Amino acid sequence: MKKLLIISSMLFTCVYGIGQTQQTTKTAPSKFPELEKMTPGMTEIWEPEVKIIQPGVTNSDAPSDAIILFSGTDVNAEWTDLQGNPSKWIVKDGALISVKGAGFIKSKRKFESFQLHIEWKTPSEVTGESQGRGNSGVFLQELYEVQVLDSYNNRTYRNGQAASIYKQYPPLVNVCRKPGEWQTYDIIYTAPTFGNDSTIFVTPPRVTVLQNGALVQNNVIVRGPTEYIGIPEYFIKKHGPGSIELQDHGNPVAYRNIWIREL
Ligand code: MG
Repeated sequence: MKKLLIISSMLFTCVYGIGQTQQTTKTAPSKFPELEKMTPGMTEIWEPEVKIIQPGVTNSDAPSDAIILFSGTDVNAEWTDLQGNPSKWIVKDGALISVKGAGFIKSKRKFESFQLHIEWKTPSEVTGESQGRGNSGVFLQELYEVQVLDSYNNRTYRNGQAASIYKQYPPLVNVCRKPGEWQTYDIIYTAPTFGNDSTIFVTPPRVTVLQNGALVQNNVIVRGPTEYIGIPEYFIKKHGPGSIELQDHGNPVAYRNIWIREL
């Protein structure tokens, strides 16, 4: 019995001892003796206080600091055609609809980095196939396209389907709703920077996209401007702030609830 007590005592001391050693190691590693002098407050940052904004009721509603680019009525307040003239796209039932032959439209405001929310709907009457079905697109800084397409039961090349960075990155998943149903894109875009050589990025553009709440592009590095034919890197050209552009690809794709937060 006495022997057992001694063993138990040794075991307790051993375990307790190890515990003490680990605890000491966690708080003051001998490798960094200066940490022993630190207090918790030394790594707390209080100023400036993070700006307080009011969220929307749902994730689709604009937060209080967003710029509303289209809220269902007047397209001409924030958009023009590419020549700067009034857009020929039509507004119907609160939606902004692409008109075949009317050309792209662009936001009057120009942006650097941003968070963009945009809702889109491809026609419920399904016509065409592959790239010819419900094609439009959201161009970031006028150059880099996030593809809009009816990709519900409509195969096309994977780096050209809905939510692709066109001809550069396929989406991580196909989370498309049926044609005729509203879908959301939340796009986080980091603008590129340039140095003296205007044909290369110092830091490339980066894009994250959520479609209908699912991550479809995870901070991808944009290789260069979107091109139908050719290698994106060959088309890099130094630029500053740019508009958001919406593509007329001949299909009556509708948009609504477009808002943006500058970053
Ligand atoms: Mg397109």
